[in-house]
This record gives sequence, structure tokens and C-alpha cells, in this order.
Amino acid sequence: MLTHNRAVDLIAPGLFRLTRGGFAAPHLVMADVPTLVDAGAPGRGPAIERELGAADINIGRIVLTHGDPDHIGASDYLRAVTGAEVCAALAERPLIDRSGWPAMPLRRRLLERALLRETAVPTIDRWIDGPAVLGSIDVVPTPGHTPGHIALNWNGWILAGDAFVTGERFRESLWFFTIDRETARRSIEALLALAPRGASSSHGRPIDRATERLQALVDTWR
Ligand SMILES: [Zn+2]
Repeated sequence: MLTHNRAVDLIAPGLFRLTRGGFAAPHLVMADVPTLVDAGAPGRGPAIERELGAADINIGRIVLTHGDPDHIGASDYLRAVTGAEVCAALAERPLIDRSGWPAMPLRRRLLERALLRETAVPTIDRWIDGPAVLGSIDVVPTPGHTPGHIALNWNGWILAGDAFVTGERFRESLWFFTIDRETARRSIEALLALAPRGASSSHGRPIDRATERLQALVDTWR
């Protein structure tokens, strides 16, 4: 069993936040199959591989919360070195395979293009359609930040990706990077309805009392 290790950050029993993913922190869930949530920025594959190796973890599954570069950049690399099955939402496919780029806001399109310039379209082994169960992990569609964004619910913890930003200043994802803010707010309300005990996101420290904090956030627009 994994114990607290300097290479990874223990959030809760069986739940870890990795530190080597680049801009966005991947998470590791010791679910039915050790599962990596998001795959880091382009070029971060070897660093994430070392981090998992230092913790002596063999992942069997990678779940991509959405198709932004800092979440999918090292997916192919990690798939190749671990043999893990890569899962992503069907609704996110146009962003992941880039067929939907032309329909995205210009600033977003330029960002994706610049950051993924040298990265191939990642291989997805399993497309998830709507709410789903992956072993002991619940997949919760949370569109808004991107059209097919998903969050994960495991053991009372929400792994939010970019559905919101945890940390001392708990908040919505930056409007500049959020494709549909109203839809993103409905998704945050859906996550509140799950009454989570904790939450962690890609761009901020984990929080406890997540239901209370989500309620306070939702109250700012309700
Ligand atoms: Zn994002």
C-alpha cells in the first residue's frame, strides 16, 4: 500500500496530488485500478513517470477531464510506458481530436494551437458517453469550461479538473479560459448536489468542507 511519499502529496487515504505535471496537477486515485486523473502538460511525461515510480505505483487507467493542453499533453507518453487505458468524454472529442478547434473562441484556439504544436492528437481507448461509472469512480459531466469537461467523484471527493479552482481563494475557473460560463455554473451546482466532503482541482490546493464552500460559491450568483 502506498504511504505518504515526498514525490506525491497525500490528500486523503488513497488520493494523491502529483507535483510534476506542469501547469495543471494530475491526481492519483487508488480506485479499483490505480487511476491517473489528467496527464500533465506537453513534455511532462518522464517527470510524471518518475513521480509514479518513486511512489511505486503502476497505473492501469488514465482519465482526461478535458482536452486542454496542460491536461492531455503527456497522455500518449504515459499510455505507452504504463500500458494504462486512456478514457475521455465523448462530448470532449472535438476538442481532443482538434476537429472542433475552428468553432472555439479565437483566443482559445490560438492557445491550444501554440501549446500543442509539437504534440500529436492523443490516443483515447475508451470514450465515455454521459454520466458513467469507471470501477469505483463516478464520472460526472461538467460542461462549461470546455464542452465535454468531466469531473470525477470518488469516496466523497470531487476531482474537479477545471470545473472550478480550489485553494484558499475558492472560485470559478477564469472566465477568459471558460467557453460557456453559464453552463459551467450549472455544472458547479450539479457538483454541489453531490454533497462532497472534499474537492481538489488542477490549479489549486485541495479543500475540505467542500459542500459548504461550493454552496457559498453558488450563492454568489443564485
Ligand atoms: Zn482547462
